[in-house]
Amino acid sequence: MKDLELSDTPILVTKPFLPPLHEYMREIEKIWEVTILSNHGPIHNQFEAALKSYLNAKHLSLFVNGHMALEIAIKTLDLQGEVITTPFTFASTAHAISNCGLTPVFCDINPNDYNIDVTKIEELITEKTSAIVPVHVYGTPCDVNAIQRIAKKHGLKVIYDAAHAFGVSVNGVDIGNFGDISMFSFHATKVFHSIEGGALSFNHEPYKTVMAKLRNFGISGPDSIDMTGTNAKMNEFQAAMGIVNLRYVEADIERRRQITQRYRNRLGSIEGMTFMRDEPGVKSNYSYFPLIIDPVRFGMSRDELHDRLHQYNIFTRKYFYPLISDLDSYRRPGDGERLVNAKYVAERILVLPLYSTLSDDMIDYICDSIEDISYAASVSASRNYLRRA
Ligand SMILES: *Cc1c(COP(=O)(O)O)cnc(C)c1O
Repeated sequence: MKDLELSDTPILVTKPFLPPLHEYMREIEKIWEVTILSNHGPIHNQFEAALKSYLNAKHLSLFVNGHMALEIAIKTLDLQGEVITTPFTFASTAHAISNCGLTPVFCDINPNDYNIDVTKIEELITEKTSAIVPVHVYGTPCDVNAIQRIAKKHGLKVIYDAAHAFGVSVNGVDIGNFGDISMFSFHATKVFHSIEGGALSFNHEPYKTVMAKLRNFGISGPDSIDMTGTNAKMNEFQAAMGIVNLRYVEADIERRRQITQRYRNRLGSIEGMTFMRDEPGVKSNYSYFPLIIDPVRFGMSRDELHDRLHQYNIFTRKYFYPLISDLDSYRRPGDGERLVNAKYVAERILVLPLYSTLSDDMIDYICDSIEDISYAASVSASRNYLRRA
């Protein structure tokens, strides 16, 4: 084992992409020319058209962020009662359901791709259920065909939280085409961003006018407000960032693919550590690199590894932990025993640093550090074994 030189600079789990400053400046100069800063201005409209085409969406609307987009999707479909969703997600998914006055009902996940377990959805459907809100976790597509069958059979709507899945496709079909509505997030830490921002894609054209009203206080004309809306408009500065970043997203995803390959090559032989592989037919965006740590075989828990990596100046993230169903505001009797796979994964998952400016040297340093820690763990495990023998 070679001696590792500690990194002086902290390696964070993610780092936002920033385009060349002059390109952004050139884009926002137009704002000074026309003096429109928000309320679906010309840059907003240009960005909307560019994204619609990039994502191969039939229809697309922009919002101030992904979370508000999700709430507006729920209001557009006028959902009521209960909504079946996953506990293994970012808090936003359940909060959006809850903020709209609905009850999230948590379905367990499958342990292979961490998405909602489609074999366990139907048993949760009651006469109050109005929709399913699955999440394409880490950008891996859900079993969209099975979800569609269930929704059709029971007359339910489907809204996908596709916050992780920008640019992903399944058997040549772009991810935003499934379900009734899909939500994308363009937060600074996502694969593609507009500082903050979000979009909804959908196939049913009339949703577009409803969404336009909902995101702008319900205003439908100079003298009319015909629904209880909110303020969720994307401004021109966000849209300008989106337009510029769209030029770089392909190259960014390609670099993420290389980083993922390097991680896989380096970490594949470490005992007690598993990670996802490419799925056939799926064009991935390589948004995250999650590991599952088996505490017995690896020799230490996920939490210990997370803390040990801190000492090497490497910042990983327990994403997603805790489970949403374990938060005080969502905990319900029986859920703990039912959501076994979600609990298993949430206790073992660790997301490694991944962003396009992460250098090969930094990846090697991260992998060397993990090897170091794993080696020390196995030595101490065998020492304990000898002591007991
Ligand atoms: C980021 C994210 C959101 C929220 O998007 P914002 O643009 O940050 O509001 C919702 N769901 C998931 C799964 C996310 O990762």
